[in-house]
Amino acid sequence: MNRFIYADNAATTRLLPEVLEAMMPYLTDEYGNASSLYGFGQESRIAVDRAKDEIAACLHCRADEVFVTSGGSEADNWAIKSAAAMMAAKGKKHIISTAFEHHAVLHTLDALKKEGFEITLLPVYNNGIVKTDDLKAALREDTALVSVMFANNEIGTLQPIAEIGAICREHGVWFHTDAVQAVGHVPVDFAAMNIDFLSLSAHKFHGPKGVGALIIRKGIRIPNLIHGGAQEKGRRAGTENTAGIVGMATAMKLACNNMDNVNASLCQKRDRLIRELTGGIVRSRLNGDAEKRLPGNINISFEGIEGESLLLMLDMRGICASSGSACTSGSLDPSHVLLSIGLPHAIAHGSLRLSLSEETTDEDIDTILREVPVIVQRLRDMSPLWETILKSENQ
Ligand SMILES: *Cc1c(COP(=O)(O)O)cnc(C)c1O
Repeated sequence: MNRFIYADNAATTRLLPEVLEAMMPYLTDEYGNASSLYGFGQESRIAVDRAKDEIAACLHCRADEVFVTSGGSEADNWAIKSAAAMMAAKGKKHIISTAFEHHAVLHTLDALKKEGFEITLLPVYNNGIVKTDDLKAALREDTALVSVMFANNEIGTLQPIAEIGAICREHGVWFHTDAVQAVGHVPVDFAAMNIDFLSLSAHKFHGPKGVGALIIRKGIRIPNLIHGGAQEKGRRAGTENTAGIVGMATAMKLACNNMDNVNASLCQKRDRLIRELTGGIVRSRLNGDAEKRLPGNINISFEGIEGESLLLMLDMRGICASSGSACTSGSLDPSHVLLSIGLPHAIAHGSLRLSLSEETTDEDIDTILREVPVIVQRLRDMSPLWETILKSENQ
């Protein structure tokens, strides 16, 4: 039994016991260096190679397109900075992205802006989805890269990745997607979607923390990130994290194989939470498109309250949730994602993100549905802002 209800799977997930089991040999007896030539190291080499084959099968890419990183942030940084540097050499210094990317992308773009790149951020509208017409209109002769996330980490909205990929390929512009929230959760087809760079992270799909990958389309020779040995074809040197890589592949394989079943049940739980919370609590609204969203994502704003207070009270009742991105907690600014879909500051402040996993039970949903309305009411009873809203309503 869990001590608490964990509804923050967009922040990180529990390492599955099967994944730990697959990793254990490489954390214990099979400690040989995957880059050594003797038989003992070969066991690790074989495990790393097999892991890349498994990752490639899930993502519909080639095994030699998989480059291991320390996670999603590193993959995002590597892809964007490399593409920018390579294209700048050809005089292309314009990058297109969206207003609601993860900070690993947005802050990388900020850094490039200081180096003289011009950045166009596409709007994502009330439903949290980019329009391909906006992308077409933004493309220029000097566009170096398009970077659009596969699924948003706060509001869960899915972007038209295949269409964007086709447009970019047609225009001969590289396309990077931060697919950290998508891999292991929705079908991803690297080849068919015409993706050139794809970032992923194992801890977002029940794998270990500190390992991820950048998938780089074959034929693109990006600069080395870490100089040293020949690991990752010399692009990112350093002794392979054998256990981490095996864990990432095992978790991905499990997620891909079980995806249809898991998602059918997740969507039911998600839609029940959305229906009963927005239906049962006045002045509440769902953030992001109701259909084109991750199976486990619920993001709702409640007028007249502070999301942080809601989180603290949920925590006291044993429910782990989020009010936006974990990276901005501790700051008083509302989430850039909620502002990007047009929420006023006051409403953005009163938002709750619940992110479910296959381990979320119907009893967990019952508990959340029992606790949230009571807490929202209690907070509203104490809120001067809510009083103002009620008064203006009665006028
Ligand atoms: C979690 C996350 C990241 C960062 O991944 P790390 O492995 O934690 O560095 C990047 N992008 C998105 C969309 C994420 O959800």
